[in-house]
Amino acid sequence: MYNFSAGPGVLPEEVLLEARDNLLSLGKTGIGILEISHRSKEFEAILAETEANLRTLLSVPRDMRVLFLQGGASLQFSMVPMNLLLPGATADYIVTGEWGRRAVVEARRIPGAHVHIAASTESEGFCRVPSDAELALSATPAYVHYTTNNTIFGTQYAHIPDVGGRPLVADMSSDFLSRPTDISRYSLVYAGAQKNAGPAGVTVVLLREEILPTDATLQAGLPMLLNYRTHIEHGSLYNTPAVFAIYITHLVLRWLIRGGGLPAMARRNLEKAHLVYGAIDAAPGFYRGHAKADSRSLMNITFRLPTPALEDEFVKGAKAQGLDGLKGHRSVGGIRASVYNAFPLSGAQCLAQYMAEFARKHG
Ligand SMILES: *Cc1c(COP(=O)(O)O)cnc(C)c1O
Repeated sequence: MYNFSAGPGVLPEEVLLEARDNLLSLGKTGIGILEISHRSKEFEAILAETEANLRTLLSVPRDMRVLFLQGGASLQFSMVPMNLLLPGATADYIVTGEWGRRAVVEARRIPGAHVHIAASTESEGFCRVPSDAELALSATPAYVHYTTNNTIFGTQYAHIPDVGGRPLVADMSSDFLSRPTDISRYSLVYAGAQKNAGPAGVTVVLLREEILPTDATLQAGLPMLLNYRTHIEHGSLYNTPAVFAIYITHLVLRWLIRGGGLPAMARRNLEKAHLVYGAIDAAPGFYRGHAKADSRSLMNITFRLPTPALEDEFVKGAKAQGLDGLKGHRSVGGIRASVYNAFPLSGAQCLAQYMAEFARKHG
């Protein structure tokens, strides 16, 4: 089956085969990866290599911390404002989809803080991301938050927004490690692993410590596990981390490095996305892409057919040919093809071919 699921997404077969062997015994330890202590030297080595490989792949600046947390990207919607936003302060949010909207809801819970919507494309059905000229940023926000790739609507930033030196925070969950990016432009980046980097259960956070207020009242009010400082001080080992999810992520990062790193990954991702967008553009009266051309996501490709009945038939017929997970998100409908890092080129070729045939038959 070719797995077009938006998340959890497809993982490299090599990774799964290696993990299978290590379920029974991690290397020569005689203890499986699901059963090994997070304080063992074997796991500590895995954690250290995972961090080192992330730093290499993304050129993470030395002064940024790398954390492996739980609770998904959704918990970061809360942790970011809880840790960074003081009463009386303002945070700017660029809203380009459902995940950004949810991040705003959590930020608004901070007593006495202001949430300013610097831009939103909601009135256009989130079919694009705003240009920098459209941003109405506040003068001195604690941070500017945005979503690099909108998993549900299928739009993506092709550039890093220029926020004039204000601290930039990004939810990178669905295009993390899919292309080279300048991490030094950010104050904080977070990504749930299950789209591109590994399985569900671990969330990677990259942050500059200097962005954390030292305010004693704020610090005293934060539960231990929701305080970034706890995880910084304990190297992500304050409590039991998501051992297995980190282990798989570690194998995925090795796989990425073996494959030529992010430039090679970006080339393959572009090639896959072009095949599917090509099939949409080849039948313009039949397929209708959701994203405006300059905001098209290379990870999640969303489109409609002339009727919901045809969309159902499209999904059913695809599944019969080994193409799974193409049904769009329940909030937008239509079709969504997610072609994350581990998704093979041959799967994109199959989908493009199926689309051409389907349009010919029903168009
Ligand atoms: C999937 C996703 C989330 C939610 O992730 P969880 O791990 O389910 O909390 C948030 N933001 C983006 C961009 C996503 O793709």
